[in-house]
This record gives sequence, C-alpha cells and structure tokens, in this order.
Amino acid sequence: MRAQPKASHFIDGAYVEDTAGTPFESVYPATGEVIAKLHAATPAIVEQAITSAKRAQKEWAALSPTARGRVLKKTAEIMRARNRELSELETLDTGKPIQETIVADPTSGADSFEFFGGVIAAGLNGSYIPLGGDFAYTKRVPLGVCVGIGAWNYPQQIACWKGAPALAAGNAMVFKPSEMTPLGALKIAEILIEAGAPKGLYNVIQGDRETGPLLVNHPDVAKVSLTGSVPTGRKVAAAAAGHLKHVTMELGGKSPIVVFEDADIDGAISGAMLGNFYSTGQVCSNGTRVFVHKAVKATFLERLKARTEAIAIGDPMDEATQLGPMVSKAQRDKVLGYIEAGKAEGATLVTGGAIPNDVASDGFYIQPTVFANVTDGMTIAREEIFGPVMCVLDFEAEDEVIARANATEFGLSAGVFTADITRAHRVIDQLDAGTLWINTYNLCPVEIPFGGSKQSGFGRENSLAALEHYSELKTVYVGMGTCEAPY
Ligand code: NAD
Repeated sequence: MRAQPKASHFIDGAYVEDTAGTPFESVYPATGEVIAKLHAATPAIVEQAITSAKRAQKEWAALSPTARGRVLKKTAEIMRARNRELSELETLDTGKPIQETIVADPTSGADSFEFFGGVIAAGLNGSYIPLGGDFAYTKRVPLGVCVGIGAWNYPQQIACWKGAPALAAGNAMVFKPSEMTPLGALKIAEILIEAGAPKGLYNVIQGDRETGPLLVNHPDVAKVSLTGSVPTGRKVAAAAAGHLKHVTMELGGKSPIVVFEDADIDGAISGAMLGNFYSTGQVCSNGTRVFVHKAVKATFLERLKARTEAIAIGDPMDEATQLGPMVSKAQRDKVLGYIEAGKAEGATLVTGGAIPNDVASDGFYIQPTVFANVTDGMTIAREEIFGPVMCVLDFEAEDEVIARANATEFGLSAGVFTADITRAHRVIDQLDAGTLWINTYNLCPVEIPFGGSKQSGFGRENSLAALEHYSELKTVYVGMGTCEAPY
C-alpha cells in the first residue's frame, strides 16, 4: 500500500497502534485504490494522547515565547523543504491535483507556523493598567490541552491552522483528522518533533464521529476547534457547552458573489471559477450563488462556459491537471443528486452535470458544472453542495441583490466585483459574512482573520485574532498600600 503510515496514531513523539480500534481504509480518490489501512482510536488511545499532551503542555508553556517561536519556525522550514513529498501525500489523501497542493496545502500550513512562530512575543503581551497608586496588569495565558477536529478538504492546512496558533499560545493539541483523509496530519506531528517540540505537544489520533465525542467530552480538554459541517458543529458545540469549554466553529456556507454590470467581466469569471471549481468545489468559503447583473449575463455565461469546458480534468499527479476527483464516491453521489434536483426544479444546465468518460473509471470524477436561471428558492441555491457546481442567478438592483444575498442561514463569505469603489464598500458593508473579498475571491493568507458568522460558525483562525481564541486573559490587581475594609 503506497501511503501506509508506520501506525495509525502519533502520540508522545512516536507512532502508536491499537488494533482493538475499528479498522478503516484510506482510499485514493483518483483510482479507488486502498492506500492505507488504519484503526480508529480506542478509549485507551484517547487517554494516552490526552495524558501525554497534558504533560507536554506544562513544559512547553514554561519556555520563553522566543524559544517556542524557534520550534514553530523550524517546523515551517522543514515543511517547505519537504513540500513536494507532503503535497504528493495530500494529493493521495484528497485527490486534489498536485498543481494545487504544491502551492496551497503544505505551503499554507508552513505559512501558519512561520507567522505564529514570528508573532508570539508581540501577540501575547499583556497590558499595564495604572490605577493611581495601585495598578493592575493582564497576562494572556494558555488554555491547556486543545482539541482540533478536521474536515477532509484541506487536511494538512487545517492541521496547521489549528495547531500553529494553539501551540504559539502555549497550549498542547490533540488533533483528529477526518476519517476520509487520515494521512497528512501524522506527518505534521512527526515534523514538529523533528523541529524540537516536546514529545506529546501535538498528538494525532484517528477516528470518526464515534471518536470525536471522546475528545470533546474529556474533562482534561479545555478547548475544541472544529472544521466541519453545520450539523456536526451543532453537536460538537452542544457537547462542549455541557462542560463550558471554549469552542471555535469553522462550518459550512452558501456564499454569494455579486457581479455588477461595470465589473471587469473576465476577472469576475476568474473569481467565480476559483470560488466554485478549486479543489473540485470542496471549499467551505466557495461563492456558490453567483449573482450576475442582467446587463452582462449573456457575456458572462458565454465566456464562463468556454473557460469551464477547457478545464483539464484527469490524473491528479499530472502537473497539467486542473481538476481532480471528489474525495469519495458518496460525496460525488450527493453532488450528482443536487445536479438532478437543479434540473428537476427548472434551472438551465449550461455545461457539465455528468461523470466525465475520458478519466479513470474507478475514480470519483465529476464534470465542473454551471447552472443558469437559478432562482432563490431552488434546492441548489439554498443548500451547501460541496462540489463543483456553480449557480448563476440574475439581478437588476443593488438593494435587491443585497437582500437576496443575505437571505441564507449561512454567513461564511461573500464577494463583490465592480469597478465602482464606493459601491464596492457600500455593498460589502451590508453583506452578512465573516470573510469578504472585493474584486477577487477565496484568498486566505495567514495574516488575515478567517471565519464565519450566522450558522457558519464563530471564532477566527489565522492572524493575531486566532491567538485570542487559544488563550485567555488573567487580570492581576496589585494593591500598593494596606488593605482596608469597612468592618
Ligand atoms: P463533517 O462535519 O462530516 O466532519 C468533520 C469532522 O468532525 C470529521 O473529522 C468527523 O469525524 C468529525 N465528527 C463528526 N461528528 C462528530 C461528533 N459528533 N463529534 C465530534 N466530531 C465529529 O464534515 P466533512 O464532511 O468532513 O467536511 C465538509 C464540511 O466542512 C462542509 O460543510 C464544509 O463547508 C465544512 N468546512 C468548513 C471550513 C471552514 O473553515 N469554515 C473549512 C473546510 C470545510
């Protein structure tokens, strides 16, 4: 098996196996081939991971921020040096084309370790509060053992986006990747040890929806950060609330992209394609409701159709491939079901909509798909599809499109394409979302906060804001005189 790890879990600096755990297989989505066989964590493995993290956290938090930063920056350096190997593993894990993983996955994870390694000292400073004689000061202190639970679309990036700020703030992490993509996070854990992190600081255990609750409900876990769907988010947040734990929720979306009549049309098409077809459409912040002004609709659709039909679909390990398979057969079947619903409810299929026939037949491929004349009430306009299916909706007036763009339970992202700078800011101000773009789409460098509002979640990843979600304030009042009381 071409991606078999030494064992299923990485705990306390070493690979660990417990064959009593439920066996599961990792499948390469491009061929359907089994590439690794693993076991889900047993309660004993969960206990081992949390106990070792608890011990490592104390040692780690006692280091100076500069010493911690050095380990994180070294981690980034090793990841960059191994970008090719890690990207190939990410492609095997997810089926995403190497053309993408080589620029967007380990590199994004490395950026995260480099950024947080560099900002620790400044990002975690407290304040001095003069009180006239007396004074107070604040400290940012770590939470303790944090749990990260990942989705399958960006396994290495998620492992790093959660791990880097958690560790920077002085916490330890136990990370559970998605059962669909178990491999990449193990390598991140290995690299952290090589970079000098204490054993146990970042442990990885495998498992699914049965394993997650063992972590979320564990009394020694202080915080849970989940990337996943809204229904899972509700369950995890409810379980965490039962113990009053800190939570960050990075959940799903049905984000709008608004293309005004004065927009650079080719740029807007690029944005809409990036926001629907990158990673075969499996991106939470995708702009899957593309509102196009009626005056430019015909041109937009004509050029979009031509560019979509020119996308190179095929072997993800071929650097020329632009679109790989979906992560699993089940996910592809779900997307095909949405495509049928779109047709049945009267949307116009502009291109795609089927399984391509010139690719490996055992892979989970699907054509990039565009629907036009989509209306707000259609299933494909309301529900998160999580596949390469773009819905184009018409609009005529600014107020109308803002109201329609906001008429969703989700609030992860939004985008506006226009040449009018005042309109761009006026519209962006009124769109209900956590992460928004003007004249571009889906760019998420580590320097900027990322996260959602409404049902898309709360808390933020990346930027200095993430450090606040992995630490808490301790306030110390210092009395400089005698302590007085009225009795
Ligand atoms: P999912 O919700 O099925 O699973 C996410 C993770 O939660 C997996 O690791 C799973 O094993 C675990 N899990 C499931 N039930 C659990 C429970 N009861 N307790 C604890 N853990 C549990 O999501 P998915 O199918 O892996 O990923 C796709 C979803 O993730 C989409 O909705 C997508 O929008 C969202 N997503 C969001 C972001 C973001 O940053 N906002 C990024 C990527 C993906």
